[in-house]
Amino acid sequence: MTTNKENKGVTKKISPTSKETKRSKACRFCGSHRGVITKYNLYICRRCFNDHAEELGFKKYN
Ligand SMILES: [Zn+2]
Repeated sequence: MTTNKENKGVTKKISPTSKETKRSKACRFCGSHRGVITKYNLYICRRCFNDHAEELGFKKYN
């Protein structure tokens, strides 16, 4: 059995005119561009991350 798991979306190239390329890495809470965490599609700056970490399901490590 062969399952075609090839994801076409992964290899799809983003065209220069795409809206995706225009989207800047800004914090979705305050819009700041500084220290924005883009990992895991967070798009939250470090400051807001601290404020909203628990809401987002992150536990604080104190
Ligand atoms: Zn922020």
